[in-house]
Amino acid sequence: QVPLKPGRSLMDWIRLTKSGKDLTGLKGRLVEVTEDELAKHNKKEDCWICIRGFVYNVTPYMEYHPGGEDELMKAAGTDGTDLFDQVHRWVNYESMLKECLVGRMAVKPIAAPKEMKAVAYIVFLQQIPEDETILCMKTFITKYIMVCSKKVYIFFFTVFLFYSYDWFQTDSLITIVVYTKQKAKLVIVDCQDKRLRGEIVIDDHSYLVEVDLYHAVQEDLAVNITEKVGKVEIILKKKENIHWKILGQPLENHNTFIKRTDRGLFYRKCKLVSKTEVTHDTKLFCLMLPKSTHLHVPTGQHVYLKQIIAGTEVVKPYTPVLPSLPLDFKEPSCHDGAHIYLMIKIYSCGPFTQALEHLQVGDYISVSNPEGNFKKSQVQTSEDLFLLAAGTGFTPMVKLLDFALTEVSCLRTVKLIFFNKTEDDILWRNQLEQLALKDKRFEVKFILSQPTKDWVGKEGKISSSLLSEFVKRSRKDSKVLICICGPTPFTEQGVQYLKDLGYSQEEIHAFTA
Ligand code: FAD
Ligand code: NAP
Repeated sequence: QVPLKPGRSLMDWIRLTKSGKDLTGLKGRLVEVTEDELAKHNKKEDCWICIRGFVYNVTPYMEYHPGGEDELMKAAGTDGTDLFDQVHRWVNYESMLKECLVGRMAVKPIAAPKEMKAVAYIVFLQQIPEDETILCMKTFITKYIMVCSKKVYIFFFTVFLFYSYDWFQTDSLITIVVYTKQKAKLVIVDCQDKRLRGEIVIDDHSYLVEVDLYHAVQEDLAVNITEKVGKVEIILKKKENIHWKILGQPLENHNTFIKRTDRGLFYRKCKLVSKTEVTHDTKLFCLMLPKSTHLHVPTGQHVYLKQIIAGTEVVKPYTPVLPSLPLDFKEPSCHDGAHIYLMIKIYSCGPFTQALEHLQVGDYISVSNPEGNFKKSQVQTSEDLFLLAAGTGFTPMVKLLDFALTEVSCLRTVKLIFFNKTEDDILWRNQLEQLALKDKRFEVKFILSQPTKDWVGKEGKISSSLLSEFVKRSRKDSKVLICICGPTPFTEQGVQYLKDLGYSQEEIHAFTA
């Protein structure tokens, strides 16, 4: 983030987009843009960018971009989709930039190579609704295509045969089975009205079953994951005990297996069931998932919340925590799976958190699927775990602490170094101190940047000397993992200091967007 000039906040941008001002310079006309035309608009005062086939005139937005003008200029006059996805694919640009829309990119006709055509046929075949005869025909034709075009065989085999689904029924149940052949990292299922969406994440890929069901089902559903054989079952309860001829009509992304980052974010509405104070400016929001949703947010991952603010969709990331720290850690903590807890700091001038502050118990808010690149296996092989958190950068550390202390037996030390401005800002201080008393492996150190004169603890900001004092291997060659989270400059400086102190990239995990 760069400091924005006064009058250039998100709210100012939303106001400008609603003012009726012609922001594209085209008086509301939409044009078809060729690559040559796009390339001409590559200056700050005349800057067009293409995202997913749509071209935007971003010149009026320059001064409002939280990442700064230079970042935006990196994509000037070009297709900025990849850059956008790398930095913040979750930002709802369609809504934020809708008044800047110039038009669509002109489509260049391309001759599809033979292999691609074969793949397209197979994809087409996968879309056809199934009964047994059609299934047989599909299998036959698919095999024929595979024989004709050997090059697509491997692609086809891994993509479509490896990850495929089957379904069967009893009088009262519909069971959809997906054989993943390996451990599914994450299974997320939603059933809204008759639309079923089941996403299975395997490594960094996602397989999707997405159908408009043939008949209605009851609200509650169940998901069984058999890790050993790599099988996922989605069990739906029929509303009426009648025989289903087909599972339903496939929807747009049904039966596809693509990179997880290429899958659009999916949201469901969750009910706010409680909002409790954590500190003077931070609250614990408890959201209830719909009965027809199966979703566990993995340790180290975040979700996105979406709200309409002054008529514009705004999206921000938040990292789910637990309702409390694992003070009783004999058994792995069990979480009911029906609730998501978010610890959120309310900023007096933050449009998103101000809107959250105004949410009432009983209101609904859109919550996305989880994202993030933290791998639990990083902790499972560590002997010393260091958690460096600043402010709400504490949030990813909550589940991490729970996981480390309840499920990782090889850990000898777990140390949280928690940076805050004042004592009043320390989140869950009491619980952290209790946890340190209960578990000899856990230690917490509070460091304040703006303490009152009564503070007898450590004072300062993240620095090389503070880190060399607190981050030390328990044995000369012990395996260490250092996780860091806070304001971007805090995280960036921290990572640099750690590297200067001799820690390798593999020993550091920085939580970022
Ligand atoms: P903003 O408008 O973003 O303002 C927040 C503060 O930043 C204000 O003090 C404002 O004055 C200042 N500010 C705004 N723009 C700029 C700028 N351009 N330059 C400098 N300062 C600026 N937050 C939580 O509370 N809990 C979480 O669990 C959590 N998880 C997160 C997970 C991830 C992966 C990330 C990236 C962020 C997370 N955040 C979390 C932060 C959260 O997404 C929002 O950024 C935060 O809630 C502020 O939103 P806002 O719109 O209310 O305020
Ligand atoms: P804060 O109260 O403003 O700051 C917490 C501590 O960090 C204070 O001691 C503060 O010192 C210090 N600090 C702030 N900016 C710093 C900088 N530039 N360099 C070094 N130290 C700095 O923090 P907050 O308002 O809770 O903000 C938390 C941040 O964490 C947000 O930016 C949020 O987006 C981020 N976050 C990220 C994730 C993620 O997964 N990526 C998750 C949760 C939160 P000073 O006295 O100098 O201010």
